[in-house]
Amino acid sequence: MYSIGNRVEWLQGPGANCAKTGPVAPRPWHLVLLGPPGVGKGTQAEKIIGEFGACHLSTGDVFRYAARDTSGQAPSPAMATALAAMKRGELVSDNTVVELVRERAGCLACQYGFLLDGFPRTLEQAHALNGILASVERKLDAAINYFAPEPLIIERLSGRRVCKQCRTGYHVANKPPRVAGRCDACGGELFQRDDDKPEAIRTRLQAYAATCNPVLEYYRRQGLLREIEASGDPEAVFAHTRAVIEKLDPVARR
Ligand code: AMP
Repeated sequence: MYSIGNRVEWLQGPGANCAKTGPVAPRPWHLVLLGPPGVGKGTQAEKIIGEFGACHLSTGDVFRYAARDTSGQAPSPAMATALAAMKRGELVSDNTVVELVRERAGCLACQYGFLLDGFPRTLEQAHALNGILASVERKLDAAINYFAPEPLIIERLSGRRVCKQCRTGYHVANKPPRVAGRCDACGGELFQRDDDKPEAIRTRLQAYAATCNPVLEYYRRQGLLREIEASGDPEAVFAHTRAVIEKLDPVARR
């Protein structure tokens, strides 16, 4: 079971030093996770990391981290615009997201490998990622695309709740807390993310539908795309994910 450091370099940007604690996997993985919001990429990412190592690099997490910044410093104008777009469920501009990833190229070169989640979302971002990876002499092993019917995705997103204190995730129907509105782990108050509210969910799914096909095609053409049906429970979906990763490199099978 792998458990990797605190990702501060990814969340805060260059200058912050990650406390890397876990053992390095025998083979560092370089993976991109694709799929609509709410399909379960975050949950699969946690499971992949536990079993195969690699650092979970989510661009959405970088924006959420900036949104909760308690340093008292005002966000940069680019970050303020990005956070306003995120709140509405819209995509942040390619320039801003690509710059943010470029600044964090060191995370892509990390000895633990990486699992990119939520990036790239557009063809332009996919091209940019290619260039950034080349600059740190890394290559993608695969782009894993998760898909599920839209009504199921809407149900997953709209029922999602998060603890204000420790960020543990819940679902009102599928993973309810023991006491309504309170975190089992720390007793913190549970809340619904702005971008999980109905209007923002619609906007997010439209944004995904408008940009996903060229990205999928880009990775399909390179022979990197792997597709996984993600309607089942997280363990069943992970069984497929594990099989896909092990097939990429049989050495990974333990
Ligand atoms: P996520 O957690 O991946 O669903 O991301 C949350 C929000 O952050 C998205 O709805 C966008 O507003 C923004 N975001 C994250 N990653 C990207 C990206 N690669 N391109 C554009 N916007 C992004």
